[in-house]
Amino acid sequence: MPDPRRRLPSVDALLRAAPARRAAARFGREVVKEAIREVLADLRRTRATPPAEEILTRVVHRAAQASFGLTTVINATGVVLHTNLGRAPLPASAARAASEAAAGYVDLEVERDTGRRGRRADRAELLLRALTGAEAALVVNNNAAALMLALAALARRKEVLVSRGELIEIGGEFRLPDIMRASGAKLVEVGTTNRTRLSDYERAISGRTGLILAVHPSNYRVVGFTHAVAPAELAGLGVPVLHDIGSGLLRRIRGVPAEEPAATEAVRHAGLVCFSGDKLLGGPQAGILLGRAELIEKIRRHPIARAVRVDKMTMAALEAVLHLWATGRHAELPVWRALTVTQASVRRRAAALAEAVPGAATARGESVAGGGSLPGYGVPTTTARIPAPDAEGAAARLRGGSPSVFCRVEGDALLFDLRTVDPADDERLARAIRYALAQEG
Ligand SMILES: *Cc1c(COP(=O)(O)O)cnc(C)c1O
Repeated sequence: MPDPRRRLPSVDALLRAAPARRAAARFGREVVKEAIREVLADLRRTRATPPAEEILTRVVHRAAQASFGLTTVINATGVVLHTNLGRAPLPASAARAASEAAAGYVDLEVERDTGRRGRRADRAELLLRALTGAEAALVVNNNAAALMLALAALARRKEVLVSRGELIEIGGEFRLPDIMRASGAKLVEVGTTNRTRLSDYERAISGRTGLILAVHPSNYRVVGFTHAVAPAELAGLGVPVLHDIGSGLLRRIRGVPAEEPAATEAVRHAGLVCFSGDKLLGGPQAGILLGRAELIEKIRRHPIARAVRVDKMTMAALEAVLHLWATGRHAELPVWRALTVTQASVRRRAAALAEAVPGAATARGESVAGGGSLPGYGVPTTTARIPAPDAEGAAARLRGGSPSVFCRVEGDALLFDLRTVDPADDERLARAIRYALAQEG
């Protein structure tokens, strides 16, 4: 039983308090009221009854947070494609293109020479065909949408064969069997978790089969007594193959593990290939479908295609990123800069950071691609390691600070991996750390 003397104040009582009135003047009365409702609901759920001043502090913080919007953060985690931190940062040219498209009118769906209606993605599609050798291309909102759309357009009320070793959850409740059900396709599992053979697929094929789906294990690895069928072999079974390569490595790049499929190779075997725009492609959130013209056209005409089309900002950013790939400048993409920056340079910057923070030292470690890319593939790195008695508390202060900093916590130490930090931010990072540590205790 909660103590009846410590009941939570009412929404109106809180709204009348001075801090709430000041916040209302800055952020809007309705916003503060909604923040109060949210904070009170949260307190009821946790059966907490803090004093009114504390409730008001939370309310004002929440209203300010919502009003200021997204906060840029320094990513010192060493996870290059950090889904919770927005995956791939865009190169300056793409960010500029997106911002200019956002602020004005653009020739999104019109041919400038004839004035006739055009297709919004026809520029990006040409670049994608040129870069991968695919017959046709289609751009949608994200890879989940690409999958959903392809299944709905090609396999509704039909069977889709998937190896049991590839029935994945990608994260955030995104599970292949659920996508399959929602698209109206019927999942048929073939083989076993660790071993699936070509004959397993052959036996499962019938007049009801619409598609074979091959999914790249992008966030896990099956090791040990295993066998999987290469999509190239599946192509010979007489049923269209959709290969979800996930991380969107556009073409073979030296140093990237051979298990990571490249789009240029995948389109040679599978009728359809799909991947994300904001993983190894280094662009904005998007889903890219490549493949045989007649399959892509069927997908393009499906009503869901209209529901998952991309906006002008995404289109502008994607075109700029593909232009970098087309002109041999992918190394300028922040994702690839982070993945390929020399160990010596990361070590030098980590040493400078350790020098600038009392008690810090350098330590060897591993950076990871993350975001469902290159599973189990760590890039050797050097971190600045800072012992802190209350490491979780210090990390929380860093996240809440300005600039906001995200790092790794390992036992009673904070680890800062500069691989994912823009060198222009090194000084600000050192200052933020010194400040957060000075607050301790
Ligand atoms: C990341 C990933 C997805 C989901 O892509 P989004 O662009 O985040 O929708 C789907 N399949 C695979 C194999 C992935 O790695």
